[in-house]
Amino acid sequence: MTREDAPVFVREIIKTSGDMWMKGWAEANGGNISLRLRPEKTGDLSGFAPKTDWIPLEKALPGVAGEKFLVSGTGKFLRNIPLFPEKNVGVIELDAAGAAYRQLWGFEPDGRPTSELEAHLRSHEVIKAASGNVKHAVIHTHAPHLIALTYALALDTPRLTKLLWQSHAECVVGFPEGVEFIPWMMAGSPEIAAATADALLRRNLAVWQFHGVFATGRNLDAAFGLIDMADKAAQIYLMARAAGRVACTLTTDQVARIAANFKVTADPAGLAADTADYFA
Ligand SMILES: [Zn+2]
Repeated sequence: MTREDAPVFVREIIKTSGDMWMKGWAEANGGNISLRLRPEKTGDLSGFAPKTDWIPLEKALPGVAGEKFLVSGTGKFLRNIPLFPEKNVGVIELDAAGAAYRQLWGFEPDGRPTSELEAHLRSHEVIKAASGNVKHAVIHTHAPHLIALTYALALDTPRLTKLLWQSHAECVVGFPEGVEFIPWMMAGSPEIAAATADALLRRNLAVWQFHGVFATGRNLDAAFGLIDMADKAAQIYLMARAAGRVACTLTTDQVARIAANFKVTADPAGLAADTADYFA
Protein backbone atom coordinates (compact mmCIF):
# COMPACT_ATOMS: atom_id res chain seq x y z
CA MET A 1 0.00 0.00 0.00
CA THR A 2 1.37 3.40 -0.93
CA ARG A 3 0.47 6.80 0.45
CA GLU A 4 -1.60 7.45 -2.68
CA ASP A 5 -3.77 4.34 -2.53
CA ALA A 6 -4.13 4.22 1.26
CA PRO A 7 -7.68 4.47 2.66
CA VAL A 8 -8.73 7.90 3.92
CA PHE A 9 -8.36 6.90 7.58
CA VAL A 10 -4.77 5.79 6.97
CA ARG A 11 -4.01 9.03 5.12
CA GLU A 12 -5.32 10.94 8.14
CA ILE A 13 -2.94 9.19 10.53
CA ILE A 14 -0.09 9.71 8.03
CA LYS A 15 -0.77 13.47 8.09
CA THR A 16 -1.21 13.65 11.87
CA SER A 17 1.84 11.57 12.77
CA GLY A 18 4.04 13.47 10.34
CA ASP A 19 2.89 16.78 11.81
CA MET A 20 3.52 15.52 15.36
CA TRP A 21 7.09 14.67 14.41
CA MET A 22 7.60 18.04 12.74
CA LYS A 23 6.28 19.78 15.86
CA GLY A 24 8.92 18.06 17.99
CA TRP A 25 6.31 16.16 19.98
CA ALA A 26 7.30 12.59 19.07
CA GLU A 27 10.94 11.76 19.75
CA ALA A 28 11.97 8.14 19.16
CA ASN A 29 8.94 5.92 19.89
CA GLY A 30 7.19 8.63 21.96
CA GLY A 31 3.48 9.23 21.45
CA ASN A 32 0.60 7.14 20.18
CA ILE A 33 -2.60 7.65 18.23
CA SER A 34 -5.95 5.88 17.99
CA LEU A 35 -8.97 6.48 15.80
CA ARG A 36 -12.32 4.73 16.27
CA LEU A 37 -13.27 3.88 12.73
CA ARG A 38 -16.58 5.01 11.29
CA PRO A 39 -18.16 2.11 9.38
CA GLU A 40 -19.72 4.52 6.90
CA LYS A 41 -16.29 5.95 6.02
CA THR A 42 -14.10 2.88 6.20
CA GLY A 43 -16.28 0.59 4.14
CA ASP A 44 -16.51 -3.10 4.78
CA LEU A 45 -13.44 -4.29 6.67
CA SER A 46 -14.86 -7.77 7.12
CA GLY A 47 -12.61 -8.98 4.31
CA PHE A 48 -9.57 -8.70 6.57
CA ALA A 49 -8.70 -12.13 7.92
CA PRO A 50 -7.87 -11.92 11.65
CA LYS A 51 -4.10 -11.96 12.12
CA THR A 52 -4.14 -12.94 15.81
CA ASP A 53 -6.26 -14.79 18.33
CA TRP A 54 -8.36 -12.77 20.76
CA ILE A 55 -6.12 -10.98 23.27
CA PRO A 56 -7.81 -10.17 26.60
CA LEU A 57 -7.98 -6.59 27.87
CA GLU A 58 -7.31 -5.71 31.53
CA LYS A 59 -10.89 -4.47 31.83
CA ALA A 60 -13.91 -5.28 29.68
CA LEU A 61 -15.17 -2.27 27.76
CA PRO A 62 -18.75 -3.06 26.68
CA GLY A 63 -19.28 0.54 25.54
CA VAL A 64 -16.96 -0.02 22.57
CA ALA A 65 -17.71 -3.73 21.99
CA GLY A 66 -17.42 -4.71 18.35
CA GLU A 67 -15.74 -1.42 17.37
CA LYS A 68 -12.71 -1.21 15.08
CA PHE A 69 -9.77 1.10 15.76
CA LEU A 70 -6.77 2.32 13.82
CA VAL A 71 -3.91 2.33 16.35
CA SER A 72 -0.21 3.15 16.21
CA GLY A 73 2.17 0.29 17.01
CA THR A 74 4.20 -0.26 20.16
CA GLY A 75 7.84 0.71 19.87
CA LYS A 76 7.24 2.35 16.51
CA PHE A 77 8.42 5.82 15.56
CA LEU A 78 5.51 8.09 14.60
CA ARG A 79 7.80 9.76 12.08
CA ASN A 80 7.98 6.48 10.13
CA ILE A 81 4.21 6.11 9.71
CA PRO A 82 4.21 8.14 6.47
CA LEU A 83 7.01 5.91 5.13
CA PHE A 84 5.57 2.47 5.98
CA PRO A 85 2.03 2.73 7.38
CA GLU A 86 1.44 -1.02 7.27
CA LYS A 87 4.43 -1.60 9.59
CA ASN A 88 3.78 1.19 12.05
CA VAL A 89 -0.01 1.24 12.47
CA GLY A 90 -2.75 -1.38 12.37
CA VAL A 91 -6.45 -2.02 12.68
CA ILE A 92 -7.85 -3.94 15.64
CA GLU A 93 -11.39 -4.98 16.50
CA LEU A 94 -12.97 -5.70 19.88
CA ASP A 95 -15.08 -8.77 20.49
CA ALA A 96 -18.81 -8.72 21.16
CA ALA A 97 -18.24 -8.22 24.90
CA GLY A 98 -15.50 -5.62 24.58
CA ALA A 99 -13.28 -7.92 26.63
CA ALA A 100 -10.63 -8.82 24.06
CA TYR A 101 -9.18 -7.57 20.78
CA ARG A 102 -7.60 -9.08 17.71
CA GLN A 103 -5.50 -7.59 14.94
CA LEU A 104 -7.02 -7.31 11.48
CA TRP A 105 -4.51 -5.36 9.45
CA GLY A 106 -1.05 -3.75 9.69
CA PHE A 107 1.61 -4.08 12.42
CA GLU A 108 3.71 -5.90 9.80
CA PRO A 109 5.32 -8.33 10.23
CA ASP A 110 4.77 -9.17 13.91
CA GLY A 111 4.06 -5.90 15.73
CA ARG A 112 1.49 -5.06 18.40
CA PRO A 113 -0.64 -2.03 19.27
CA THR A 114 0.71 0.78 21.45
CA SER A 115 1.65 0.02 25.06
CA GLU A 116 -0.93 2.67 26.03
CA LEU A 117 -3.75 0.71 24.36
CA GLU A 118 -5.67 0.40 27.63
CA ALA A 119 -5.61 4.16 28.18
CA HIS A 120 -6.78 4.75 24.62
CA LEU A 121 -9.58 2.18 24.65
CA ARG A 122 -10.86 3.17 28.10
CA SER A 123 -10.86 6.79 26.93
CA HIS A 124 -12.75 5.87 23.77
CA GLU A 125 -15.42 4.11 25.82
CA VAL A 126 -16.13 7.15 27.97
CA ILE A 127 -15.88 9.79 25.22
CA LYS A 128 -18.12 7.81 22.88
CA ALA A 129 -20.86 7.77 25.50
CA ALA A 130 -20.32 11.30 26.78
CA SER A 131 -20.19 12.88 23.32
CA GLY A 132 -23.15 11.02 21.85
CA ASN A 133 -20.85 9.08 19.50
CA VAL A 134 -19.21 12.27 18.15
CA LYS A 135 -15.63 11.91 19.42
CA HIS A 136 -13.53 9.35 17.57
CA ALA A 137 -9.87 10.33 18.10
CA VAL A 138 -7.38 10.07 20.97
CA ILE A 139 -3.79 11.34 20.76
CA HIS A 140 -1.01 10.99 23.33
CA THR A 141 2.17 12.94 22.73
CA HIS A 142 5.15 14.62 24.38
CA ALA A 143 4.38 18.30 23.76
CA PRO A 144 7.47 19.88 25.30
CA HIS A 145 6.13 23.18 26.57
CA LEU A 146 3.25 21.57 28.46
CA ILE A 147 5.72 19.09 29.98
CA ALA A 148 8.07 21.94 30.93
CA LEU A 149 5.22 23.65 32.79
CA THR A 150 4.86 20.58 35.02
CA TYR A 151 8.49 21.00 36.09
CA ALA A 152 8.41 24.78 36.44
CA LEU A 153 5.19 25.14 38.43
CA ALA A 154 3.10 23.44 41.12
CA LEU A 155 -0.11 22.72 39.20
CA ASP A 156 -3.61 21.42 39.69
CA THR A 157 -6.48 21.28 37.22
CA PRO A 158 -8.03 24.71 37.91
CA ARG A 159 -4.68 26.52 38.04
CA LEU A 160 -3.28 24.87 34.90
CA THR A 161 -6.53 25.66 33.11
CA LYS A 162 -6.47 29.31 34.06
CA LEU A 163 -2.74 29.73 33.35
CA LEU A 164 -3.27 28.53 29.77
CA TRP A 165 -6.40 30.66 29.31
CA GLN A 166 -4.40 33.69 30.51
CA SER A 167 -1.40 32.91 28.29
CA HIS A 168 -3.20 32.93 24.94
CA ALA A 169 -6.40 34.87 24.30
CA GLU A 170 -8.12 32.11 22.27
CA CYS A 171 -7.54 29.23 24.69
CA VAL A 172 -10.74 29.74 26.68
CA VAL A 173 -12.62 29.38 23.38
CA GLY A 174 -10.64 26.29 22.33
CA PHE A 175 -10.98 24.47 25.64
CA PRO A 176 -13.57 26.25 27.82
CA GLU A 177 -13.99 23.09 29.92
CA GLY A 178 -10.31 23.38 30.91
CA VAL A 179 -7.35 21.00 31.08
CA GLU A 180 -7.03 18.10 33.53
CA PHE A 181 -3.81 17.77 35.48
CA ILE A 182 -2.86 14.16 36.27
CA PRO A 183 -0.06 13.79 38.84
CA TRP A 184 2.73 11.36 37.92
CA MET A 185 1.75 7.71 37.63
CA MET A 186 3.48 4.83 35.88
CA ALA A 187 2.94 5.00 32.12
CA GLY A 188 1.15 1.96 30.72
CA SER A 189 -0.41 1.09 34.10
CA PRO A 190 -4.11 0.38 34.70
CA GLU A 191 -4.08 3.32 37.15
CA ILE A 192 -3.06 5.91 34.58
CA ALA A 193 -5.43 4.38 32.02
CA ALA A 194 -8.31 4.79 34.47
CA ALA A 195 -7.26 8.32 35.48
CA THR A 196 -6.95 9.38 31.84
CA ALA A 197 -10.35 8.00 30.85
CA ASP A 198 -11.89 9.69 33.89
CA ALA A 199 -10.26 13.00 32.93
CA LEU A 200 -11.40 12.81 29.30
CA LEU A 201 -14.96 12.25 30.47
CA ARG A 202 -14.92 15.84 31.71
CA ARG A 203 -12.39 17.56 29.48
CA ASN A 204 -10.77 17.13 26.05
CA LEU A 205 -7.19 17.63 27.30
CA ALA A 206 -5.29 15.91 30.11
CA VAL A 207 -1.67 16.70 31.00
CA TRP A 208 0.43 13.90 32.52
CA GLN A 209 2.93 15.41 34.96
CA PHE A 210 6.54 15.06 33.75
CA HIS A 211 5.42 13.10 30.66
CA GLY A 212 3.00 14.53 28.11
CA VAL A 213 -0.59 15.12 27.14
CA PHE A 214 -3.70 13.21 26.05
CA ALA A 215 -6.33 14.83 23.86
CA THR A 216 -9.59 13.77 22.32
CA GLY A 217 -11.81 15.15 19.59
CA ARG A 218 -14.26 14.28 16.86
CA ASN A 219 -11.32 13.48 14.55
CA LEU A 220 -7.52 13.57 14.55
CA ASP A 221 -7.42 17.20 13.41
CA ALA A 222 -9.55 18.31 16.36
CA ALA A 223 -7.42 16.46 18.93
CA PHE A 224 -4.18 17.63 17.29
CA GLY A 225 -5.40 21.24 17.22
CA LEU A 226 -6.19 21.26 20.93
CA ILE A 227 -2.71 20.04 21.84
CA ASP A 228 -1.20 22.59 19.46
CA MET A 229 -3.16 25.43 21.04
CA ALA A 230 -2.40 24.40 24.64
CA ASP A 231 1.28 23.81 23.94
CA LYS A 232 1.58 27.19 22.24
CA ALA A 233 0.00 28.89 25.27
CA ALA A 234 2.52 27.11 27.50
CA GLN A 235 5.31 28.19 25.16
CA ILE A 236 4.19 31.82 25.25
CA TYR A 237 4.13 31.79 29.05
CA LEU A 238 7.59 30.21 29.25
CA MET A 239 8.98 32.66 26.67
CA ALA A 240 7.64 35.60 28.66
CA ARG A 241 9.15 34.18 31.84
CA ALA A 242 12.46 33.61 30.08
CA ALA A 243 12.43 37.20 28.87
CA GLY A 244 12.30 38.36 32.49
CA ARG A 245 9.44 39.31 34.77
CA VAL A 246 5.91 38.67 33.50
CA ALA A 247 4.64 42.22 33.79
CA CYS A 248 1.01 41.69 32.79
CA THR A 249 -1.48 39.04 31.74
CA LEU A 250 -5.09 38.57 30.76
CA THR A 251 -7.24 39.20 33.83
CA THR A 252 -10.03 36.96 35.09
CA ASP A 253 -12.54 39.50 33.83
CA GLN A 254 -10.98 39.60 30.37
CA VAL A 255 -10.98 35.79 30.12
CA ALA A 256 -14.65 35.74 31.19
CA ARG A 257 -15.50 38.42 28.61
CA ILE A 258 -13.77 36.45 25.82
CA ALA A 259 -15.78 33.36 26.80
CA ALA A 260 -19.02 35.34 26.81
CA ASN A 261 -18.20 36.92 23.45
CA PHE A 262 -17.70 33.52 21.84
CA LYS A 263 -20.69 32.06 23.71
CA VAL A 264 -18.77 29.33 25.51
CA THR A 265 -19.08 28.42 29.19
CA ALA A 266 -15.72 28.66 30.93
CA ASP A 267 -15.18 26.13 33.73
CA PRO A 268 -16.08 28.04 36.94
CA ALA A 269 -13.29 26.36 38.92
CA GLY A 270 -10.78 27.53 36.33
CA LEU A 271 -12.07 31.10 36.40
CA ALA A 272 -11.95 31.11 40.21
CA ALA A 273 -8.39 29.74 40.42
CA ASP A 274 -5.70 31.96 41.91
CA THR A 275 -2.74 32.13 39.50
CA ALA A 276 -1.18 35.33 40.88
CA ASP A 277 2.03 33.54 41.92
CA TYR A 278 2.61 32.35 38.32
CA PHE A 279 2.83 35.96 37.18
CA ALA A 280 4.75 37.41 40.12
ZN1 LIG B 1 4.34 8.98 26.39
